[in-house]
Amino acid sequence: MLSLPIAPGLQIPLIYEVRSDDADLRNTIDGEWFDILDHFPWQDYRQVAADYYNARYDFNQLPPQKATEDDAINPETQGEARQRLLFDRATAPQPTAPPAPIPYQGEVVAAQTQDVQAADVAPGLVPPRLVGRKPKCFFGLLKGFIGASLMGFAPEPEQVRLLLKSNPAFARVCGFFHQRKDCDDYHFEAVPSLRKLEPFDQIMTAAGLWGRIKRTAVTDNLASGVIQPEPELVGDTTHFHAYSSFETVPYQDAHGKEQKKSQSKRTKTCGCEDWHACPHAWALRDEGAGTIVKSGKQMIWGHKASAIGLPKQGIVLDAVAVADAATHDGQTFYPHVQSVLGAYPLLAASVQRVLYDSACIGCQHLAQYCNRTPASGRTITVPFDTLKHIDPEDPPMAKRFKAIMTRRPAVERMIKRLKCDLGDDRLSTRGNECFQATLWIRR
Ligand SMILES: [Zn+2]
Repeated sequence: MLSLPIAPGLQIPLIYEVRSDDADLRNTIDGEWFDILDHFPWQDYRQVAADYYNARYDFNQLPPQKATEDDAINPETQGEARQRLLFDRATAPQPTAPPAPIPYQGEVVAAQTQDVQAADVAPGLVPPRLVGRKPKCFFGLLKGFIGASLMGFAPEPEQVRLLLKSNPAFARVCGFFHQRKDCDDYHFEAVPSLRKLEPFDQIMTAAGLWGRIKRTAVTDNLASGVIQPEPELVGDTTHFHAYSSFETVPYQDAHGKEQKKSQSKRTKTCGCEDWHACPHAWALRDEGAGTIVKSGKQMIWGHKASAIGLPKQGIVLDAVAVADAATHDGQTFYPHVQSVLGAYPLLAASVQRVLYDSACIGCQHLAQYCNRTPASGRTITVPFDTLKHIDPEDPPMAKRFKAIMTRRPAVERMIKRLKCDLGDDRLSTRGNECFQATLWIRR
């Protein structure tokens, strides 16, 4: 039976092929991704598809960033750029005014073009363009990224390409076919090349569409009861290994003392041939990457994410890139939980308490909101022999606390799902924008 409802105006397929390997996949536990993609509710994503095609049109109209003869050369040296970039960071030696935001906030570029409407698009139905080749189908590309993550691979263009190329059932369920090797003509339904997958991911990120898909899914699931509001939230941070190298930047602190801080190397995003004599500014090659200090003084060059979820159901509600990975854990939770509760009012009405580990002790809002801590509550110390009825190994007052804290490890399982089940912890892209996009897709 056909699983895809056909959009009005589209020809009903006259022949429907049933492949034996599709049936095999449906019957295996590891083949769950196949059923999910085959029954993908594409009607829910038509507006996103229309917005994608409009943003894609704008993207293709952008002039290449190249210098003209009239442009003045940017006089900033590499050394000056290194210091400027250091002092712009959220963990800058001296805070900037206003301070840089702690959770990453990507800038959403709204599409100027509004030609394509939701009703114009469906799987296999792409909007016509007067110029250029027929674009690859949005629904096929979207399924490619979601499918990669469902299979446990990083939802990144290179990985998606590899899977589509090597797994015929996956390519088919996404709506693509494998082109014969003696035919290299462009066909919009052929398995997309890396040069098609990369701009898809880039446009989805820049237009804020990955983020919108995620928020809509959580909002709908909360409204329909698939996700039940809980009285508690659980939070933690986790790291991903960066796909870049770093250098150590010396600087003078407020007291004039020589200090050092690790920072990503620099690059330019323009297409100029000589970066040393062009008008554009230097930027960090891997913006957001920083040194993360783990327990036992272990140091990792990576990106940091803050995750918030529901402990009883084990659901990650939100995972956000921390704008500068070197930010201390105590500073990430408050702004993150504020944005999560602001985005989901149903949740804000139910949440009474948050379970977090001692890393939050450095939080500047601790005294105001966490009234059980030494910073604000009263603490008295008495010797145990004055309290004969209490067993110090198992104090009765701790029982309720213990029961609550048994739910805290739920966050470790959520993080495992983000890092291991829906991809891996080694990134193959750079910068906060790409890092946030992979978190959105995994969510
Ligand atoms: Zn340039």
